[in-house]
Amino acid sequence: MDKDWSEKNKKMQALIAKDATFDEGIKLLLELRAELFAQITSIVKTFPAEAFYQMPFGTGDGSHHTTLAWSLWHTFRIEDIVAHTLILKDNQILFTDDWQKKTKSPIITTGNELDGEAMIDFSKKLDVKATYDYCKTVMDSTNEMLKRLKFADLKKKFTEEDKARIVKSKSVSTSESSVWLIDFWCSKNIKGLIQMPFSRHWIMHVEAMRRIKNKLCQQAKKGVDQIACCGLSCGHCFLTSWCGSCRTIYNTCSFATASPDGVCPNVACCKEKGLDGCYECSELYNCKKGFYSLGKETNAIRVMALFIQKYSKKELLRVMDTLHSKKKFDKIQEVLGDDVEEGMKILESWSKK
Ligand code: SF4
Ligand code: SF4
Ligand code: SF4
Repeated sequence: MDKDWSEKNKKMQALIAKDATFDEGIKLLLELRAELFAQITSIVKTFPAEAFYQMPFGTGDGSHHTTLAWSLWHTFRIEDIVAHTLILKDNQILFTDDWQKKTKSPIITTGNELDGEAMIDFSKKLDVKATYDYCKTVMDSTNEMLKRLKFADLKKKFTEEDKARIVKSKSVSTSESSVWLIDFWCSKNIKGLIQMPFSRHWIMHVEAMRRIKNKLCQQAKKGVDQIACCGLSCGHCFLTSWCGSCRTIYNTCSFATASPDGVCPNVACCKEKGLDGCYECSELYNCKKGFYSLGKETNAIRVMALFIQKYSKKELLRVMDTLHSKKKFDKIQEVLGDDVEEGMKILESWSKK
């Protein structure tokens, strides 16, 4: 489990266990949920539609043997059912504001009953953007409920009547893989529910989503030119484990994702000019477009592209291998500095080694 999230989760559990620190615990829980949701937002905003119905780990046990779309749906359906049908005894968010129609979901259950092809088919049908909006609405609604909770509420237990209400809502499939959920939730008090569907369950599935998207990136990158359009080397980039390269649809370079429509201007410009990369462009030295507009901050990258222009991609990769084996650094700027001429001299000096 992610160390930061795991520690926050543990601390939150200890804080909510005492009356004097309960409010602080809820505050920490909301903070943890916001951090986890930020991960979800970044995946939904940066990954292409087809990423959401891939199952890169195939079928099997474990939260990562799923799809991104299913993980979203499952995590927030459970929260919606538990928060509304079980605790608040009101209408689930899914049954308000046409959410089922908007998400295009063929099911109203938690999705535990789906596996393999059935899970992929379900994921293809889901409108990911609308599902994300549904998830956000569920989260906001639960957050409001959590803010209103008092320490004394934590001991509240559930009854046969509560169980019957969930069964009646048909929100949990009667299949063996799902039906146990009802007993599981109802065997807990509110404190127990805070510790699972509203926190730990999120961590489990957000971590699984991270594994899925990283795997998709690695699969996409296989056999693809590892030199990025701007001159960076993907194999030596600190983002390499979770970026699929700007030559694939899984480009999660932070510069690209912050650009309008998630398209890096350098990639777009190269495409428009029919170039393999900026290193093939006669305007490279003075170019102020996209990544190069950051000037001194990204001059080291310009140097790498100029080096390719003068020597070759192969020579740059050889130099980068040597550099990384001899020096410890995260970003190439730390080695090449921000002056183009000086940076070139440094690269050339390493080229002779
Ligand atoms: S800045 Fe643009 S060209 Fe460079 S690695 Fe990122 S997406 Fe690719
Ligand atoms: S951020 Fe750029 S250089 Fe790094 S892996 Fe992604 S595309 Fe490659
Ligand atoms: S004009 Fe700039 S961004 Fe466009 S291909 Fe040339 S160097 Fe790259």
